Amino acid sequence: MNNFSYTKASNVDQAISQLDADIRNKIVAGGTNITDLLKYFITKADKLVDINAIKEHNSILRLDNGGVRIGALHTNADTAYDPIIEGRYPLLSKAILAGASAQIRNMATNGGNLMQRTRCYYFYDINTPCNKRDPGSGCSAITGYNRIHAILGQSKNCIAVFPSDMCVALSALNATINISGSHGERVVDFSDFHRLPGDTPNIDNNLKHGEVITSIDLPEKGFEKNYSYLKLRDRSSYSFALVSVATGFDIENGIIKDVRIALGGVAHKPWRVPEAEDFLKGKEPTQEIITEAANIILKGAMGYQHNSFKIILAKRAIIRNCIMALDPESQRPGAKPSL
Ligand code: SF4
Repeated sequence: MNNFSYTKASNVDQAISQLDADIRNKIVAGGTNITDLLKYFITKADKLVDINAIKEHNSILRLDNGGVRIGALHTNADTAYDPIIEGRYPLLSKAILAGASAQIRNMATNGGNLMQRTRCYYFYDINTPCNKRDPGSGCSAITGYNRIHAILGQSKNCIAVFPSDMCVALSALNATINISGSHGERVVDFSDFHRLPGDTPNIDNNLKHGEVITSIDLPEKGFEKNYSYLKLRDRSSYSFALVSVATGFDIENGIIKDVRIALGGVAHKPWRVPEAEDFLKGKEPTQEIITEAANIILKGAMGYQHNSFKIILAKRAIIRNCIMALDPESQRPGAKPSL
């Protein structure tokens, strides 16, 4: 870990001014990822700006438009167990609780969850080439051990996946992100926040230096009647997704009025395919049409030596999770999906 100074900000303006123009000045909130990144020399900081004391963004508020605002500094655990989130956005609650461990969820903040970095083994091993850590050095994963890597949206420069569970649900819910910076405030659609690797895998998202995520807005529709989050991983706790799926259905008179399907663990960002959702709308939800939608979602999927299994795993996960979402009884603890 390199030497750095440490300051505390008590409001967003202070945090923005303390970040100033030095791109090695970084924000710390829960610290559950950046501490590792600093300890292992994956990132360096001249100054850490601690924003935990900013109280105005540590709450959950009802919005006049019927939606809900979750503070960037609210913890993942407090968000998942909040009665409003549990009642109106159970998909989000379930996705958060599928992530990390209870201890980490108690520390990790919602803003930090969006900012976490890939868990690619080579990214954390400074003795190996990695375009994300050291642009232009190469990608060790493409010809290396790539079991956990991307099957969609990857580039010749990086095949890493984004590790969050919470963000898969936020993507499905069409959340928006509120950002403050020295030039004012802006709102970013969730789908536009994280980036595909392309030629710049070192840039994970579209937050600019000097900007701070203040909150995340959830639209009124929470899919609380027909939802499911399925996470498939190597062990049942404290493990990142090989494939995860967040699904919400709005069913009216037996017909799909609205549907969202977002995938995690398969790409550099939560993966949505509007064409597949449009295909499902107006149809009766049968296993056959859900299978067709899964084929649309996975069109163009490409595996590598160790992760090709993810393509069929993702297809089965989409179908199973949609069937679970259509059967609210399957959401009860211990219940089995009616496959
Ligand atoms: Fe680095 Fe991305 Fe390649 Fe992993 S997949 S080694 S993060 S460039």
